[in-house]
Amino acid sequence: MWIVDQFFAFHDFAQRSPFVVVGDEPAETVKWRADGTIKWAVDKLKQDYFTDDPKEILDIWLFKDAASYQKHTRLLFNDTPTTPYGYYSREEKALIMNIGTGGGTLVHEIVHPFMEANFPACPPWLNEGLGSLYEQCGEEEGHIHGYTNWRLPGLQQAIKSQRVPAFKTLTAMDTGTFYNDDRGTNYAQARYLCYYLQEKGLLLKFYREFLARHKTDPTGFQSLQKVLAEADMDKFKISWEKYVMGLKQGYEVRVQ
Ligand SMILES: [Zn+2]
Repeated sequence: MWIVDQFFAFHDFAQRSPFVVVGDEPAETVKWRADGTIKWAVDKLKQDYFTDDPKEILDIWLFKDAASYQKHTRLLFNDTPTTPYGYYSREEKALIMNIGTGGGTLVHEIVHPFMEANFPACPPWLNEGLGSLYEQCGEEEGHIHGYTNWRLPGLQQAIKSQRVPAFKTLTAMDTGTFYNDDRGTNYAQARYLCYYLQEKGLLLKFYREFLARHKTDPTGFQSLQKVLAEADMDKFKISWEKYVMGLKQGYEVRVQ
């Protein structure tokens, strides 16, 4: 541990690679987040998905509240964040977090540099779907497991008003379309597709299938059809929407 100004930093190359964790909460709290949230999430994500660490050491900045987050993002990175929770900056090789909003976004952002290192061609829907899935997560039978969260009510609303695009459309979205044309449903739709696959016990199978054949199936749509054993994806969307409408925040509903 070392102290820079009012910041505490932790780095243990053997244990916590590939991150340096820096924060302005009390030292014990920063250490607790480094061990409890970051190391746990990295271990669990690597257990199921990722073999390689990001190529470079990344800094995880844990700012204690909104004021510190705004101030230091400007001072250290000359940046104005577009999100109150935190983000991953590839240029700065940093995860920059307002940790006062909770650890969920931190786990979400940890997924991105690992995806970059292990599946650089991963389309935005899966990168954000998986990140979002684990922004509300815990451990089930030794594996990382996503739970229903705050993105659910907005998605249910969009389903009711028939604003959710076809899965063929979602999976084909490039970065610009996914992020810029997000009418509030892209993240949530991707998340609850991943959630559905997880609850059906198909998420890891899908990920591995897609990773193996992404050169011929760059969007993942065919891999999705194969893993779901579903030729008619419009029909699948109807049953998925019904499933999502039956979910409640904070409850697990198993798919039969
Ligand atoms: Zn993200």
